[in-house]
Amino acid sequence: MAEIYKAICKNCSSEKSVLWGDGMYYIQYQCSNCLKTVGIPRHAPRPNREGREVPKFLEKDSFYSYPPTPIEEIIRFTDAELEEHLSNHVAWQNGDDEWDEFEVKKILQIRGCKCSSAFERVSRDSSPSTKCESCNSVDFQMTLDKLAD
Ligand SMILES: [Zn+2]
Ligand SMILES: [Zn+2]
Repeated sequence: MAEIYKAICKNCSSEKSVLWGDGMYYIQYQCSNCLKTVGIPRHAPRPNREGREVPKFLEKDSFYSYPPTPIEEIIRFTDAELEEHLSNHVAWQNGDDEWDEFEVKKILQIRGCKCSSAFERVSRDSSPSTKCESCNSVDFQMTLDKLAD
């Protein structure tokens, strides 16, 4: 579960709120330059490539066994399809597959900032960080405000 912090810049006193950590349906990355955070859907909207084994008596319309997907048959998305999916947060609940590394890169390009710096996974154990839009300071007083989904 993610956390929302109230962040006050120790240099110029501007205030903002910082969402920190992975949520139920997204995982979070952070730009190593401007410290903006970007959420990407936890799963890719396609069947799990490893397939799924569901005991017969538990099978339902949306929950059934299927075989692994051969690598060349894994559904690929056009940029437009990706953008469409990313803009619809409710759809982030769909899907059961992992993203490939090049897809993560593409998604970060679409949703990220203009820095072209490396994105790092936000770790649960690291303390929240951000950069001040007014004075560029990274020295913040962080107070946990509430928990987010
Ligand atoms: Zn500031
Ligand atoms: Zn950036």
